[in-house]
Amino acid sequence: MTDSQTVSRRRLLRGAATLAGLSLAPVSVWGCVSARVPLGGYPFTLGVASGDPLSDGFVAWTRLAPRPLEANGGMPEAPVEVRWLVAEDPAMSRVVANGRTVASPEAGHSVHVEVQGLRPDREYWYRFQAGGETSHIGRARTAPSPGAAVDRLKVCFASCQKYEAGFYAGYRHLVEENPDLILFLGDYIYEGDSGSRNAVRLHQNPEPMDIGGYRVRYATYKTDPLLQAAHAAAPWVVIWDDHEVVNDYGGDRGEGADPAVFLRRRAAAYRAYFEHMPLRRTTLPVGPDMQLYRTLDWGNLAQFQLVDDRQYRDAPPCMEPGQAGKLIVDCDARRDPARSILGGRQEAWLLDALARSEARWNMLTQQTLFGQMNLRNPLDMTQERFSNDGWDGYPAGRDRITNRWVEAQVSNPLVLGGDIHSFATGAIHNGKDGPVVASEFVGGSITSLGMEPAVAGLIKGLNPRLDVLESARRGYGSLELTPGRAEIAFRALADAADADSTISTLNAFVVENGRAGATAA
Ligand code: FE
Ligand code: CA
Repeated sequence: MTDSQTVSRRRLLRGAATLAGLSLAPVSVWGCVSARVPLGGYPFTLGVASGDPLSDGFVAWTRLAPRPLEANGGMPEAPVEVRWLVAEDPAMSRVVANGRTVASPEAGHSVHVEVQGLRPDREYWYRFQAGGETSHIGRARTAPSPGAAVDRLKVCFASCQKYEAGFYAGYRHLVEENPDLILFLGDYIYEGDSGSRNAVRLHQNPEPMDIGGYRVRYATYKTDPLLQAAHAAAPWVVIWDDHEVVNDYGGDRGEGADPAVFLRRRAAAYRAYFEHMPLRRTTLPVGPDMQLYRTLDWGNLAQFQLVDDRQYRDAPPCMEPGQAGKLIVDCDARRDPARSILGGRQEAWLLDALARSEARWNMLTQQTLFGQMNLRNPLDMTQERFSNDGWDGYPAGRDRITNRWVEAQVSNPLVLGGDIHSFATGAIHNGKDGPVVASEFVGGSITSLGMEPAVAGLIKGLNPRLDVLESARRGYGSLELTPGRAEIAFRALADAADADSTISTLNAFVVENGRAGATAA
């Protein structure tokens, strides 16, 4: 129990004493609805999750919501006691940690338990009890000890799971791969209204603008049984992209709204994101701010540098007056070294983390395509064009990262990404035409629809650095790291509109330790 919870418990005990003789049921002596008092329905409708493992613990998450599609989850306006248990076996017979915490209405009755004191590099199982009900059992694991020698790490990475665009068959296959970690790289929800074109199922509320609306939107996604099964299968390590707030937002700019108005919406969206993700208190939002960037270590084998390219970015460059789209012709402002997609503070943190890392593999874990993608004007092929919504809008910041990889002799940098609703891999050069210093892998989208295949073919032809740009298939990426090599597979569904879809490997690549660049496996 935290200090603040202890203090409020004492205060509540004093309060209870002065009310001696009055019936306080169903409120327990410490001011909470007891874990045994019914809540008007099964409260674990949104499943359980674990996340952000350390060598001695992990975050165990749930949110109480007997009626998940209501803004308050169908919960009383009162704190509720939640019990949690962690065991060494899937039957939960050898319990090694347990406790109780408070799910408060201010936090949407979400629970984020930071379990500590566990052993490194092993599996655990966990579950919750509240309202006289017991949750399903989730599987978690701890990371290896800092610096420990590690033989193998299996990671799956996913992004862009628009609910209306398909079913989550990808997660069924992902779970069968038995990954140690699941990375989610952004667009966990989409904020749009209900009823997009070719929808296979519908969002259950209008475009969210406030905390209640975003809660209902997360609940719509999280009631999906295949998504719940993926959360229960392994720890998730999450970052966001734009649609967790609104399409293509950056900093305090979104959908043309007044910045003060937009920041109120961003605060609601960030709060709902925290409430629904297995994140640590260090990421707890404060008003419209939430520090999501962090590192995650896996012994001496891997470090994931998880970045946030939305919250701190400078304004997009080279916009014509009244321009709505993000396709730009090059201009001096684009290459201005003062501009940054990560913001000065996060960029300094990242460059410092890279210089310090002693990991064999260094995974820049970000939301979109990292390397340059030239989108030449088909009517005038001499004219280079770029999207200013990603790293191509901020190439100087990208160069500072690739330079740091070289100068600090960072061991085996690799880039993981999402956002473009395509499988993509390509070489990362240091500067526009410098040597290859890394490879990047964009792991498709779980459901969100991609660009026309003919357009993808044109773009690939214009960008020789890209080995793959496949927009027609949905799926995820699979990554196996050993000290000697990284193996990456793009796993593509036959049909994401079919909840029972089969899957197959679209492409597989190998990166050898000490040698930048990927080769087909
Ligand atoms: Fe997306
Ligand atoms: Ca996106």
